[in-house]
Amino acid sequence: MQVPDIIIAIDGYSSTGKSSFAKIIANEFSFLYLDSGALYRGVTLFAIENGFISEDNTIDVPALDKALENLDLHFGKEGTYIGDRCIEKEIRSLAVASKVSPIATVAEVRAFVDRKLREFGKNKRIVMDGRDIGTTVFPDAELKIFMTADPLVRARRRAAEMEAKGDKTDLQDVLKNLQERDYIDSHREVSPLTQAKDAIVLDNSEMTMDDQMDWIRKIIAERFGC
Ligand code: C5P
Repeated sequence: MQVPDIIIAIDGYSSTGKSSFAKIIANEFSFLYLDSGALYRGVTLFAIENGFISEDNTIDVPALDKALENLDLHFGKEGTYIGDRCIEKEIRSLAVASKVSPIATVAEVRAFVDRKLREFGKNKRIVMDGRDIGTTVFPDAELKIFMTADPLVRARRRAAEMEAKGDKTDLQDVLKNLQERDYIDSHREVSPLTQAKDAIVLDNSEMTMDDQMDWIRKIIAERFGC
């Protein structure tokens, strides 16, 4: 399938399989895949390690904002990096997951991440997943998808994923974490998680990855005549 030079924005609730879907799309259409959540997770790890966020999630915003000026957070060969340190494993931990949504409410953090994300948009042919890609980062994206799925299905998938990596998990903890994140993400003041008016909803509770790929191929063929 010869897909034109477009931006595909995938937003939606936590653990709906956005990144797995986006990676397969990128692979099939020779697009660049970008995981915006990884940058929020990277800032969160940085904030935890440097004491900018406390046990009770109080954030020292002025200090964090100042420190962001010198934070070299970027994508590299093995995923996400701070300088030359690969932080891919740490940012997927529950410790980071439990603090990332409070960190992502901070306007200064969002501005920092948005700047990095928009750089990638210049050459199109990207698929980016997150919470505000179609609404804020790339409001003119040519194709916007909003993903959702039953919360228990999502928690089971995420727990299985973590267990496959050798992490001990409790289904109830995973479910609680994703519901808390959904709540904070949907209710924050700056760029809350909402469905863009021109986004197409994909509820994949009962869909396989093959079903989802059939679904998107059909949409792209209809919309872009390819
Ligand atoms: O996608 P992922 O679950 O890794 O994102 C982690 C968190 O980062 C989300 O729960 C959300 O709080 C934040 N995020 C965001 N905006 C994005 C991407 C992620 O606020 N575009």
